[in-house]
Amino acid sequence: MIRIGYGMDVHKLVEDRKLILCGIEVPHTFGLLGHSDADVATHALMDALLGALALGDIGKLFPDTSEEYRGADSVELLKVVMEHVSEHGYRLGNTDITIAAQRPKLRPYIDLMRENLAAAMNASVDQISVKATTTENLGFVGEELGMSAYAVCLLIKA
Ligand code: MG
Repeated sequence: MIRIGYGMDVHKLVEDRKLILCGIEVPHTFGLLGHSDADVATHALMDALLGALALGDIGKLFPDTSEEYRGADSVELLKVVMEHVSEHGYRLGNTDITIAAQRPKLRPYIDLMRENLAAAMNASVDQISVKATTTENLGFVGEELGMSAYAVCLLIKA
């Protein structure tokens, strides 16, 4: 039996924050604002995994009103989500993530991101796809006010 999941997330770009995507710090003049490390890509991925099992969303699991999750490393939260996946008797088939960002160029970091997520998810790199796109200077992403990320995943009955 297989189950499909989908997740999306948006965070605002601000000065004086690190830019963390898929757990990798990407050098940039702006970073994403959020209660945790604001790793928009990992958040979309976690919502896809939780969605596949109809377990709600990351806001339910890790409330942003909780001091426990202030500045949280989202990849550590992803490991917790993967524990839920195994407890429900599923394993990752594959995931495909798209990050929408006008700048900086993410290509040099894509393989690092895939390796980092694969390690956190106990998966192999070929199960993890990470892609990046600009939005041709259009909308909030194009105007560099924020970034968005979208993820789908397939879970397979273990
Ligand atoms: Mg988020």
